[in-house]
Amino acid sequence: MFVVKIGGSKGIDYDAFVRDLANYRSFVLVHGGSHELGEIATKLGRPPVFITSVSGFTSRYTDRETLEIFNMVYAGKMNKMLVEKLQKAGVNAVGLTGIDGRILEGPQKEALKIIENGKKKILRGDLSGTIERVNVKLLCLLLDNGYTPVLTPPAISYESVAINVDGDRCAAQIAVALGAERLVILSNVPGLLRNPDDPTSLITKIARDEIDAFIQTYAQGRMKKKLLAAKEALDGGVKQVLLGGARTKASLTQTLNGAGTRIE
Ligand code: ADP
Repeated sequence: MFVVKIGGSKGIDYDAFVRDLANYRSFVLVHGGSHELGEIATKLGRPPVFITSVSGFTSRYTDRETLEIFNMVYAGKMNKMLVEKLQKAGVNAVGLTGIDGRILEGPQKEALKIIENGKKKILRGDLSGTIERVNVKLLCLLLDNGYTPVLTPPAISYESVAINVDGDRCAAQIAVALGAERLVILSNVPGLLRNPDDPTSLITKIARDEIDAFIQTYAQGRMKKKLLAAKEALDGGVKQVLLGGARTKASLTQTLNGAGTRIE
C-alpha cells in the first residue's frame, strides 16, 4: 500500500503516469493542478496571487472567487481527467475532494503573517488551512471494496468551510493516516536538485535529520513544501518518501526503484 501524489506543473505526462500506475493494486492517488489553474484563472481574468509567509514558504492566496475557480480546475477538470484515464486503464477510480465526506479536515488559518516587498504584513480573508484529520473510515470503505480513491484539495475546516491546503502535505497526512509504508511525490523535476536549473544535479538520499538543512540550502519555492511534507510523513510513521519526476514513461516504477530522491 502506498500513497502517490502527482503534481500539476507543466511537463507532466499523465498518460504515461496512469499506464504505469495501473500496474499496481493498492494505492491512493492525490493530485495537483497548479499549471492548469494558472492558465484557466488567467483566462477568467483572475491570475493567481502568491504570498510568502514570514518563515519563507510560498502559497496561493485563496479568496472565495479563487476557491471557486480552484474547484473547477482541481475537482473538475484535473480530477475527472485522471479518473477517466484510470478507468480506461482498468482501475475502478473514484474521484473526491477533501470536503466530500470530510475526508480531509483541519483548522482554517486565522490570519497569515506574510512578507510583502520586504515588509511584514497581516493578511486576512484567506481560505486556507492545514489538515489534522483524515476520514480513514471512508477511504477504507472504498479501498476494501475495490475502489481506488483519487483525491484533491480543498479540505474542509471544522466550521465546514472549504479551505485550500497544500497537495504534498495532504498526501503526507493521508499516508500517515492509512499507515502507508511509502509516499511517492512526483513532479516535473527528477527529485531534489542541488541546482534547480540542472536536472543532473540530483540529490539521491536524505536522512530525516538532514531535511531542515536541505530545505534551507537547496529547496526553493514549492520544493520546500515537498520536503516539509516528507518530514511530516516520516514523523507520522511512513518509512520512506520518494521524490521523482513524471515527464517520462514508467516514472512511478523508476521512482519506486530508486531513481529520484529517497528520504528515510
Ligand atoms: P507540483 O505542482 O508538481 O507539485 P511544483 O511546481 O509545485 O510541483 O514544485 C516543483 C518545482 O520546484 C520544480 O518545477 C522547480 O522549479 C522547483 N524547485 C525549487 N527548488 C528546487 C530544487 N532544489 N530541486 C528541484 N526543484 C526545485
